[in-house]
Amino acid sequence: MRYSNDAPPVMTLTSGPVNCYPEVLQGMSRTVLYDYDPAFQRFYERVAKKAQQAMRTPEVPLIQQGEPVLALEAAAASLIAAGDTVLNLASGVYGKGFGYWAARHTDKMLEIEVPYNEAIDPATVAAKLRDNPDISVVCVCHHDTPSGTINPIDEIGRIVADHGGYLIVDAVSSFGGMDTHPEACHADIYVAGPNKCMGAAPGLSLVGISARAWEKMKANPAAPRASMLSMVDWQEAWRHDRPFPFTPSVAEVNGLDAALDLYLGEGPEAVWARHALTARAMRAGVKAMGLSLWAAREEIASPTTTSVRTPEGIDEAALRQTARERYGVVFSSGRSETMGKLTRIGHMGPTAQPIYAVAALTALGGALSALGHKVDTGAGVAAALAVIDAD
Ligand SMILES: *Cc1c(COP(=O)(O)O)cnc(C)c1O
Repeated sequence: MRYSNDAPPVMTLTSGPVNCYPEVLQGMSRTVLYDYDPAFQRFYERVAKKAQQAMRTPEVPLIQQGEPVLALEAAAASLIAAGDTVLNLASGVYGKGFGYWAARHTDKMLEIEVPYNEAIDPATVAAKLRDNPDISVVCVCHHDTPSGTINPIDEIGRIVADHGGYLIVDAVSSFGGMDTHPEACHADIYVAGPNKCMGAAPGLSLVGISARAWEKMKANPAAPRASMLSMVDWQEAWRHDRPFPFTPSVAEVNGLDAALDLYLGEGPEAVWARHALTARAMRAGVKAMGLSLWAAREEIASPTTTSVRTPEGIDEAALRQTARERYGVVFSSGRSETMGKLTRIGHMGPTAQPIYAVAALTALGGALSALGHKVDTGAGVAAALAVIDAD
C-alpha cells in the first residue's frame, strides 16, 4: 500500500502548524461577524480575557492579526529604539533569526551563540550583562523549534530583570505545551502562537506585554504606527472602545476562542502533562531503537518536539517521504542549519497523546528499515509503552 502526496496524510505529527482540535474547526465554522458590530467587539474582549487567563498575565494580552512571525517582527520594531544595546541569545535558527530583526533597529548588537543542539547557559548571560552594563534589551527563544531544544528562560529572565533590562521571549512553540508564562520569566514581550501547542490554525499571535514595555513602545518614536506591525495602534484602538485599527481575522478569533476553552477546560497542568509524557515515551523509544536524540542533553529536549538525529548515510528528505508514502505519517524536517541533520516529531495540542509516540516510532523505524538502516523498531515501541504504562 502506498499513500499519495496528492491526498492528505493519515497523521500529521509535525512541530507546527499542527492539526486543529475538532472543536477548533467547529469554532471556525461560526459565522463571520462584522467587526464594528458590538456583539463582535464584546466577543473579542471575552476572547482576550480568556487569553489573559491562559497566559496568567496582569495585563490583557494583545492578539495580533497574523501568525507569530508578525508579532516577533513587531516586537523588535516596537520595543527596540535607536539608542538600545541589544543582547540576542541564539541557540538555534529562530533565536539567531530574531537577531536579524533586532539589528534593523539598533547599531549596538551583541550576541551569545551556542551550538544548535545546546541551550543558553544563564551564567554566560549574567557575565555578558556584567561586562556590558549598557545592554537594555535581551532577546531569547524559549523552544528553538528547528532544534527541539529548550532554553532556561525563567533563570535568564531573573538575571535580565536584576540587570534592569527588557526581555523579549519567543515562546511560540512552548506556550500551552509546558509550564511557561510571561511573568514567570519576567518577560516584557512574550509571543505565543495558537497554531502550535494550542491546536488552532495559523493566523494569530498572542502577545503578553508588560506595563513598562507599553510605556517604552509608546515613547519610541520609531515604533510602527499606522502599520500592520503596530502593536501600539491596536492596543489603543480596542481598549478605548473604538473600532479596530483594521479588520481582525474573525474566523481565526472564533477558532482561538474554542482553543482557549479547550485549554482552560482540560486544565493547563493536565495539558502539559500529556505533552511531557508523549515526549518522554518518544525519547525512550528513539534511544531503545538505537537512534540518537539531537539535543546534546536530555534535560534540554523539548516536551513539545522530539528531534532525532539523522543516521549516517540516510537522506533525511527520503526518510520523511518514505514515512509518508508507506504509512501516511508526516514529520517535520529541520530548518536552515538543522535541515537534513534531524527529523522532528511534534507533540503539540491534539498530537500530544502518548499513543502518537508509538505511531511515530513505528513509522520512523519502518521508514529507516526500508532505506536500509537497521533499527530495532520493536524495542523502541516496547520502551515507549513501558514509559506510558508506568505513568
Ligand atoms: C512556529 C514558530 C514561529 C512562527 O514561525 P513560522 O516559521 O512562520 O512558523 C516562531 N518562533 C518559533 C520558535 C516557532 O516555533
